[in-house]
Amino acid sequence: MIPFLDLKKINQQYADELKDACSRVIDSGWYIMGNELKEFEAEFAAYCGTKHAIGVANGLDALTLVLRAWKEMGKLTEGDEVIVPANTYIASILAITENNLTPVLVEPSPDTYNLTKEGVEAAITSKTKAILPVHLYGLISPMAEIMDLAKEHELLVLEDCAQAHGAEINNIKAGNWGDAAGFSFYPGKNLGALGDAGAITTNDNELAQTLLALRNYGSRTKYENLYQGVNSRLDEIQAAMLSVKLKHLDAETECRREIAKRYRTEITNPLVILPKLNDNLEHVWHLFVLRSEVREELQNWLEKHDVHTLIHYPIPPHKQQAYRDWRAIHLPITECIHEQVVSLPLCPTMNSQAVTRVIELVNEFRV
Ligand SMILES: *Cc1c(COP(=O)(O)O)cnc(C)c1O
Repeated sequence: MIPFLDLKKINQQYADELKDACSRVIDSGWYIMGNELKEFEAEFAAYCGTKHAIGVANGLDALTLVLRAWKEMGKLTEGDEVIVPANTYIASILAITENNLTPVLVEPSPDTYNLTKEGVEAAITSKTKAILPVHLYGLISPMAEIMDLAKEHELLVLEDCAQAHGAEINNIKAGNWGDAAGFSFYPGKNLGALGDAGAITTNDNELAQTLLALRNYGSRTKYENLYQGVNSRLDEIQAAMLSVKLKHLDAETECRREIAKRYRTEITNPLVILPKLNDNLEHVWHLFVLRSEVREELQNWLEKHDVHTLIHYPIPPHKQQAYRDWRAIHLPITECIHEQVVSLPLCPTMNSQAVTRVIELVNEFRV
């Protein structure tokens, strides 16, 4: 059996370090908003190259709170349009609608699955105030082009980095391109906690100050409330787990890149379309996503041979019950992607025999 992702095996590599860190927190007697959080925030900001990293409860909150902060700062008002890729995971869109902003769903490139300069440019109207590029599957969006457009049209840029910890273009990491970025540390993400966690990165001091209050009831000084904030904090245990995991992130990314490289060079079956990319450093391979017109048969074939695959994602946001008003919208590229994608097992602990087995099976697949 080749699992899709073996979280237990990933975390067992660091079991001693994780248990030591956990004991340290238990023994400290301090469980929320303490030194572990401060240290992890400093380490993660340094990793991304940003001035600030602000821990929050999860990735959805990270995105939601940045938009909320921009409203508090007078940079956004309800009804403003936010450009977002139509094929993203629903969280990117929930962050927009939760703030009563208007998502403008834009078709991605069928090659990269990310926004393109042309796609964004065509969607800009007089109401557009922000762009929310999603670095889907681990591939960073074309950020230099997106930032040029943003500058030209005076738009805010919020990167959704939930799948792209450490991806980079020209030595600038995901999370350090836009005005702000949201990260998720959900256990299955490339940098995963042992529970829920998230963070925001930014170089903007005022935004950072606003977010520090918003995540904690709108308060920076105890019992003084500047905003009608929320409770979205990253607790000490998860911060301690993340400090351990961050040290190993680049090594894990290297393992992901090696597996992806083998898949990309050794899978030759014309029934599948492989991911395309320009530069090795742009992708951190959160997922290895193939496309096939006979996806269901491929998935069944692999399942029959004990190789577990998943679909990211089976239903696009505009076809969800949650957004039933959008059902009449037709987005052919996005819909085609959702009908054809399938994700192969990709886990930093996967051994070379397992990778070989997956490659052989995909190559042997016939209809
Ligand atoms: C996982 C994910 C999120 C949300 O993160 P949570 O920590 O689960 O709230 C947001 N955007 C994308 C693209 C994701 O993959």
